[in-house]
Amino acid sequence: MSRPIVLLLGEPPIYQTELWKAFEANFRVVRDTSSSRDAFIAALKENKFGAVSAILKPSVEAGNIPSPWNKDLISLLPPSVRLFSAAGAGFDYLDLPSLNARDITFTNGRGAGDTATSDLALYLILSVFRLTSYAEFGARSGDPKVFDEVHNEIAKKAVNPKGRVLGAVGLGAIQKEIVRKVGYTGLGMKVLYYDVVRASPEVEEKLQAEYVADLLELARRSDCISVSVPYLDSTHHLINKEFLDAMKPGSRIVNTSRGKVIHEAELVSALESGHLLSAGLDVHYDEPKVLPKLIAMRNVTLTAHIGGVAQDTHSEFERLCLTNVDNFLRTNEPLLTEV
Ligand code: NAD
Repeated sequence: MSRPIVLLLGEPPIYQTELWKAFEANFRVVRDTSSSRDAFIAALKENKFGAVSAILKPSVEAGNIPSPWNKDLISLLPPSVRLFSAAGAGFDYLDLPSLNARDITFTNGRGAGDTATSDLALYLILSVFRLTSYAEFGARSGDPKVFDEVHNEIAKKAVNPKGRVLGAVGLGAIQKEIVRKVGYTGLGMKVLYYDVVRASPEVEEKLQAEYVADLLELARRSDCISVSVPYLDSTHHLINKEFLDAMKPGSRIVNTSRGKVIHEAELVSALESGHLLSAGLDVHYDEPKVLPKLIAMRNVTLTAHIGGVAQDTHSEFERLCLTNVDNFLRTNEPLLTEV
């Protein structure tokens, strides 16, 4: 029997080399080498890839030339395609309903970056309590006067997270890991959470997390907010002036979800007025641009959307991608991460 054809977008896996060797033995891998989206469309129209059974995109950074995968592009796929197996947790480059309408199953890399992203949130939470970005500025200034000024200023503002209240906005897979790392088993923070779906009593008990049914009440009762929700119409500007005004004077906020979940201009106002003491932002409103006003603020820790970015995450993306294709086309085992 001939091997099923798998269309590879981007580069072959670089971490899961053993799995990849076996994969190439079981499937006929054809590579897309188009230099533009138009060239990819032309290749589809010419049926250049043959009777493809699955599309494989094992890297977040590579294989993006055909994007966006809108209805028009999806309609050109060979009728033989049954699975799209991609790296990454998000899928905003892809029109999922159009894929489903073609009866193509979609799997992604959900969960692969939970450890890395929650580790980064832990770092940001520590940094907003202890003002480490400002401290780094003081040390890097190379100026003894600035060093002393920064030291004395931080002495007036830094506090320990221990015993203070974390307000978790969303309690999904990543936030649960954040809570585990900063809650009673970690930094010793008390945890309140708000989510559109309340967690089970077992999860609340295990995490020692108290449910708060009203988002503004969560704002009023927390010393530091951690935002970890998907970016949807319903979460656009979820954190806005009303929420920020409700937060305690001198409190902090951390965002590892998506930039547009927070109304950026209103966050800047809350920081400028001193109502909020500090912020830690891994994600930004208009990425890859970062707002100059935020760049200038010493009490704000900024990272370049690196929450999930670690070799371990990429290796796990590859394992999930390859295993999902193998399970679906060859062994009939359940899919690991169907969306
Ligand atoms: P998840 O689906 O496991 O959890 C999301 C949670 O948000 C769910 O519990 C859901 O009920 C809740 N939610 C949805 N809408 C809400 C609302 N309006 N108010 C309150 N809660 C709401 O997702 P996850 O894997 O934990 O990831 C969360 C988000 O983190 C992702 O959607 C992604 O945008 C972001 N992320 C960022 C990075 C990074 O590099 N910074 C890496 C991975 C994921």
